Amino acid sequence: MIVVMKTGAPTDVIEELATEFEGWGLTPEKIVGTHKIVIGLVGDTASLDEARIQELSPFIEQVLRVEKPYKRASLEFHNGESTTVTVATPNGPVHFGRSHPLVVMAGPCSVENEAMIVATAKSVGASGAKLLRGGAYKPRTSPYSFQGHGESALELLEAARAASGLGIITEVMDTADIDRIAAVADILQVGARNMQNFALLKQVGQQSKPVMVKRGPSATIDEWLMAAEYVLAAGNPNVILCERGIRTFDSKYTRNTLDLSAVPVLQSLTHLPIVIDPSHGTGKSQFVPATSKAAVALNVDSLMIEVHPDPSKALSDGPQSLTFSAFSTLMDELEPVARIVGRDYA
Ligand code: PEP
Ligand code: MN
Repeated sequence: MIVVMKTGAPTDVIEELATEFEGWGLTPEKIVGTHKIVIGLVGDTASLDEARIQELSPFIEQVLRVEKPYKRASLEFHNGESTTVTVATPNGPVHFGRSHPLVVMAGPCSVENEAMIVATAKSVGASGAKLLRGGAYKPRTSPYSFQGHGESALELLEAARAASGLGIITEVMDTADIDRIAAVADILQVGARNMQNFALLKQVGQQSKPVMVKRGPSATIDEWLMAAEYVLAAGNPNVILCERGIRTFDSKYTRNTLDLSAVPVLQSLTHLPIVIDPSHGTGKSQFVPATSKAAVALNVDSLMIEVHPDPSKALSDGPQSLTFSAFSTLMDELEPVARIVGRDYA
C-alpha cells in the first residue's frame, strides 16, 4: 500500500501517520521525492481499506495498492522516481541511475596477481571506466577450476584502487567474508548463482556498502526483483540490478542468452539502477561490443565488462574478455550511442 501525501504536507502530520500505521502492525517507509512525500506500507496490507486510510488526514492525496510481490523495489513505491546509488571512489563520487552519466565497470574475471590487476585498473581507468571489477572469491562450476586467490586478492584490489583511484566491485559468496570484502570493496556483488542465497542477501542488506544483485541464470524478473527486495528489506537502500544472460534452449553460439529486453522491462517496474554485463551474457569477446552498444541504446545505467591484459592466458573467462585496446575502442564507440539516447557520457 502506498500513501501519497499532498505537496506541502507538514512533517508532524507525516510522523503521526507513521506512528498510526506502526500501531496497526505495519512498517511505514517514508520516501521523500522531489515534489511529494510518499509513505510506503509494508506488512499484511491485504485486509486494509483504502478509504479508511484516506480518512486519516486531509493531507493524504491518494492511497494506492501495490499489486506486485515486491514493494520496496517497485517504481510505485518510489512515486515513479528513480533511485541514485552513489559510490565513493578515490577519484570522487560515482552515481548510478537514470539521470546520471553511463557508468562503466571493467576488469578481469579474477584477480590473478598484482601486476595484472594494477595494469588493468590503470588501463581501463584511462579509457573511462569508473570502477574496477575483479573476483577474489570465484563461483566456479568445477571444484577443480581456479577458485580465486581469496583474501590475498583483496589486498591486490586495494593496491589497484590506490594506484588507479577507481572504485572496486567484487563478489561475495559467503556471509563469513562480508566484513572482509566490505572493507575493500565499494560495491558488493552477489553473483548469479547466489541470487537466491537468502542468508547472503539478508546479511549484505545489513551492511552499508551498495550491493549489485546479478540475475540468476534461470531467474524470472519477479524472482530477481524479490532478491533485491531482500536486500532492501534488510535496510540497505543501495541496490543495483545486473542482467548477465539467462539460460535458454540455445547455447551453441553464446554462453547465455543476454536478455536485453530486461532493460525496458525493469525501467517500467523498478526505480533501481540497471547494469548489463555483456561479457557473461554472450561469453565471447567478439559479441561484447555490439551487445554493449545495444544496451546503451536502451539507455541502461551502467555496463560491466571483462577486460584482461592477455585474454588467452586468463585463469578464468578469457574467451569473453576484451584486450585493453578493444576496450578502449569500445569506450569511444559507446559515446555517440549514449548521446543519441540523451545519456551523459563523462
Ligand atoms: C563474474 O562476474 O565474474 C561472475 C561470476 O558472474 P556471474 O555471477 O554473472 O556468473
Ligand atoms: Mn567472469
